[in-house]
Amino acid sequence: MSEARHDWSKEEILAIYNKPMMELLYEAATVHRVHHDPNTVQVSTLLSIKTGGCPEDCGYCPQAARYHTDIEGNDLMTVSHVKAQALRAKASGSSRVCMGAAWRNVKDGPEFDQVLEMVRTINKLDMEVCCTLGMLTENQAKRLAEAGLYAYNHNLDTSEDYYKDVISTRAFEDRLETIDNVRKSNVTVCSGGIIGMGEQLEDRAGMLVALASLNPQPESVPINALVAVEGTPMEEMEPVSIWDMIRMVATTRIVMPETQVRLSAGRTEMSREGQAMCFFAGANSIFAGDKLLTTPNPDVNEDMAMFKLLGLNPQKPFVKVAQPTTTEAVDSILAPLGEKPKWSRPAHKIERNEIAKNKTKLVE
Ligand code: SF4
Repeated sequence: MSEARHDWSKEEILAIYNKPMMELLYEAATVHRVHHDPNTVQVSTLLSIKTGGCPEDCGYCPQAARYHTDIEGNDLMTVSHVKAQALRAKASGSSRVCMGAAWRNVKDGPEFDQVLEMVRTINKLDMEVCCTLGMLTENQAKRLAEAGLYAYNHNLDTSEDYYKDVISTRAFEDRLETIDNVRKSNVTVCSGGIIGMGEQLEDRAGMLVALASLNPQPESVPINALVAVEGTPMEEMEPVSIWDMIRMVATTRIVMPETQVRLSAGRTEMSREGQAMCFFAGANSIFAGDKLLTTPNPDVNEDMAMFKLLGLNPQKPFVKVAQPTTTEAVDSILAPLGEKPKWSRPAHKIERNEIAKNKTKLVE
């Protein structure tokens, strides 16, 4: 049973975000190693199975049909093409394939049937399959679950207050409704957001309040730095500072201790040192491949060289995060700070030597 807190206030989250950096890092790293193996990072591959021509107006997205970007649209990929890409991803260390389609919402019909076949195909390769296809009904979520979908991505993007400044063609409530539909199936939820879109720190905290208050919390939370693409309304945005990324990752780790925190878009702008700080602060997943849907991403060989340098191991598929632990145990680790941690409540009795080992476990 999860022991995560769901009643974080924006003020509490801002207080964490704004802590002196060394304190924030120590606290986040402590939470991280209590709940996860700090030397294991999941490598996921994001595949754009249908690019461009989207009717939505997400201000950050080069795939929106209304913006004049260099994106070349394409029709839905064939199942055999997807299979070949998945095999390539597996061979280079990925345990998850996430398939993205630039749709407002899923429509029942031949294209959805084709996606279901893609899910079945990747599932047979013993890889986790994730989809991000836009809004979804409860019935569609169930059909994806039957096909073997492991996770569904649907980002909240930002806070409820700032949402309308980023997207006007749908509402924050619509996002929550799709997440709720996914939760009615046995598919896990992947939901996070983007920083650097002109939002205030309060909006970053507000997004984390919304994510943390979901019960259960998302199993996966991607933290993206905006990649400002020419032709989109956000083309002039200043790049996000690495310190903001580290603070956001660390705060996410503290308020959602059991989730997989994904270091997502914007990695090409980060040094290895910056990424290492993010891993230390609790990020435990990256996206591999030279493209993240349509924006640039580090080369997979570069990532593997970084893993070697840092002694990180790619996570195997279907690995569950470590079990939650007791407040007392975390308290003992954090005693030098003289603070009472608030991220978890008294839980299962796990011996301290077991916590030290902190092994992840394979899902049966
Ligand atoms: S983010 Fe998704 S929904 Fe929004 S414009 Fe891009 S493809 Fe469409």
